[in-house]
Amino acid sequence: MNVPAHVDLAVVGAGPAGRALAHRAVAAGLAVAVIDPAPDTPWRATYGMFVDDLPGWITRDALTRPSSGVVVYTPDRRVVGRPYVTLRTDILQRSLTLDGAAVIVDRASRLTATGVDTESGTRVSARCVVDARGGRGADPGAARQTASGVFLTASTDRRDVGDETVLMDWRHASADSPSFSYRVPTPHGYLVEETCLAGRPPIDVDELGRRTGARLPSGVSTGRLDHEFVDFPLDSAPRPWSRGTRAALAFGAAGGLMHPATGYSVAPSLAAVDTVVAAVVAGRDPRRALWPCRARWVHRLRSAGLEVLLALDGPSITAFFDAFFRLPGDDQRAFLSERGNLAGVVRTMVRLYATVPGELRSVMRRRTIASLVHRAP
Ligand SMILES: Cc1cc2nc3c(=O)[nH]c(=O)nc-3n(C[C@H](O)[C@H](O)[C@H](O)COP(=O)(O)OP(=O)(O)OC[C@H]3O[C@@H](n4cnc5c(N)ncnc54)[C@H](O)[C@@H]3O)c2cc1C
Repeated sequence: MNVPAHVDLAVVGAGPAGRALAHRAVAAGLAVAVIDPAPDTPWRATYGMFVDDLPGWITRDALTRPSSGVVVYTPDRRVVGRPYVTLRTDILQRSLTLDGAAVIVDRASRLTATGVDTESGTRVSARCVVDARGGRGADPGAARQTASGVFLTASTDRRDVGDETVLMDWRHASADSPSFSYRVPTPHGYLVEETCLAGRPPIDVDELGRRTGARLPSGVSTGRLDHEFVDFPLDSAPRPWSRGTRAALAFGAAGGLMHPATGYSVAPSLAAVDTVVAAVVAGRDPRRALWPCRARWVHRLRSAGLEVLLALDGPSITAFFDAFFRLPGDDQRAFLSERGNLAGVVRTMVRLYATVPGELRSVMRRRTIASLVHRAP
């Protein structure tokens, strides 16, 4: 392999975030190196998202048919009129071609703002180094999201389950260790996935598998179905903007682009790619471009939201989301999706505070203040 000694952009990690960044950087004319021990390992996870979170340049072939909205049960049924989609990850991965980039099949051992060393001794220097290694470096005590799901394919398996896109079904949530059912059409069948939104520690995946089985029609055995297991840290990059200027720019799940209170990172990472590329092309600081002051505050407030969720039992978390999904759609979208909309996130949190049952208010107040004070700057 011909390894260039110097490039404009070195991207460490070729998951959805790193691969998309490298792909768009090559398209913008930058000299790019990608370092990953297994850059072409097929992406197997189900990636779901609201359609309006995706950037326009994503190939439409990579999307399954969007639902017209999502259903939530809190415990009453409510429809949120925001199209939602799961990705055809094989098509997405192929479309993010790395042609034109130097692909180094190796594990990075040391990263700085301007250089990468690999385990086998290769060194690449770059104007900008990006760390897109996912959430692997998270603190062992980080809050995690866990889930266990099965893909239903035969109509016999799907009877009584329906085929709607259910973002959250909190009915039957356990009082002391609440989880919800996430149900979405995917390219591999209808996914029924019991999810622990956030836990420190989270609910064990085996227990969630048992709960998934309990949601299925009687007679459907999970043993012969394809499974999906989920376990990842939610706050693996607490303050990504505050790393020193000698550190690589963290991006994707490694770089605070995961919403700490929901676990979504794929669409926000894809949407942020062009911000980094434009900054590197223009010779500006990509960290400042990615983290203007309002985005930092939104991240802090979302992290406070995570701390609130971690304190809620089954009845409280159901009441919390019941109040949340009664808010106007713009308020919901501001908190869930708009990482630069500080005024919108504050407005949503204030309105939510005013709407939740009285006993939840003191939890929200205490947890939010503690998170903001404890986690400064
Ligand atoms: C089963 C599952 C389902 C999920 N579903 C959703 C969903 O529906 N929607 C959503 O938004 N998010 C979802 N997530 C969460 C999150 O978005 C994903 O984890 C996503 O893959 C993160 O993308 P990333 O590119 O930032 O990191 P990763 O996908 O983790 O990619 C990291 C890359 O870095 C490479 N790497 C690691 N160490 C090194 C090293 N030392 N040197 C070089 N390369 C290295 C790895 O090989 C990998 O290719 C899900 C997660 C899981 C596990």
